Amino acid sequence: MAKTVFLNIDELVTMKAASGKAGRRIVEQDLSIISDGAVVAENGKITWIGARKDLPSVSGDEVSLGGQTVLPAFLECHTHLAFAGDRSEEFEWRMRGMSYQEIATKGGGIVSTVKATRESSELLPLMQKRADRFVEQGITTLEIKSGYGLNEETELKSLRLAGQVVGPRIVRTFLGAHSKPPEFSSINEYFEYVLAVLLPKVAKEKLAERVDIFIEKGFFSAEQGSRLFAAAKSLGLRATAHVEQLSHSGGTSAGLASAIDSVDHLVEISDEEIEKLASSTTTAVLLPASDFYLRMKYPRARAMIDAGAIVALSTDYNPGTSPTQDLSFIGVLARLEMKMTLPEVLAAWTVGASTALGKQSVLGSLETGKSCDFSVLDGHVRELFYSVGHHPVSSVWKDGIKIKTNQKKF
Ligand SMILES: [Zn+2]
Repeated sequence: MAKTVFLNIDELVTMKAASGKAGRRIVEQDLSIISDGAVVAENGKITWIGARKDLPSVSGDEVSLGGQTVLPAFLECHTHLAFAGDRSEEFEWRMRGMSYQEIATKGGGIVSTVKATRESSELLPLMQKRADRFVEQGITTLEIKSGYGLNEETELKSLRLAGQVVGPRIVRTFLGAHSKPPEFSSINEYFEYVLAVLLPKVAKEKLAERVDIFIEKGFFSAEQGSRLFAAAKSLGLRATAHVEQLSHSGGTSAGLASAIDSVDHLVEISDEEIEKLASSTTTAVLLPASDFYLRMKYPRARAMIDAGAIVALSTDYNPGTSPTQDLSFIGVLARLEMKMTLPEVLAAWTVGASTALGKQSVLGSLETGKSCDFSVLDGHVRELFYSVGHHPVSSVWKDGIKIKTNQKKF
């Protein structure tokens, strides 16, 4: 395959230093910005990157990026994309002050999404449309969790269909341990079924590279988390977990003890756990849109970042607690409500998210040897995560090939 030489890059934001620091304690200089930059790619990988004046003579197709800003593509490391239906009616019920119990009695809550997902014959087009919406915002690697099937047929089907989504690179995560389906009388009985029946089938068919579990009071326990992580490891799968979202349930410690990829939510994490997290290689994935929608407090991002933890941000896109795919909204919440700086937010969506997905050796920054995945901005990097609803990405490139061109909005 011929070489491609990308030229006419006003500001080339490489995040090289951020990657060198493994995404910890990010400062402005870690964006590693090169003025008038150039990138050479071959077979989808970067073979040279630097200032145009230093570019060696190479023969290849020249591509002008229009004198704009270029930065590493973002990674979306926590989504519940595999669902049908919506919960808009329930949103109105909640605003009228109805309790979760009353909503469940009216047929709302996660059970309603499970029912719609099991009955849907449109799951793949729905997922594809949502994936496209992420790509247009500069995402080239997208995590998709199952978890709205909660039985063999629909859990496996969700993961199979996730593998058929085209455009971004897909990381599939098996979240059978999301909630108790109506057919089971107890959460423990269902968990044993996930462990003994569903997980081995997922592994055998290679339908996921990771497992996930919702560790929370009234849902799954930290001890069940530890058992799931061990079982996953024995089958060659990595793990992530929903922890300390609504209450302190010990999921962080269980996750760190098993050195899982990431611990996600962390609203109720203790000071002691922040210290342990900061000295680990497990990424803290913060999901402020769900805290916003639930009108809860936000995770203590400042304490985690200052202690030296690796931090990623994600939409947590799901129909119940975070029905938004808007990256600009997440970034603005992180800056306003969690006191994260712009370089920290940029690192969270790139280096941090790549580490959360175990892909930091090939993605998350623009460096020789890594995948040539980047976004071209219609403006300065400072315009990102500033205006809610305005995310100035003009084109998106994966493995050196353009996968999306956006119309200029205003
Ligand atoms: Zn989630």
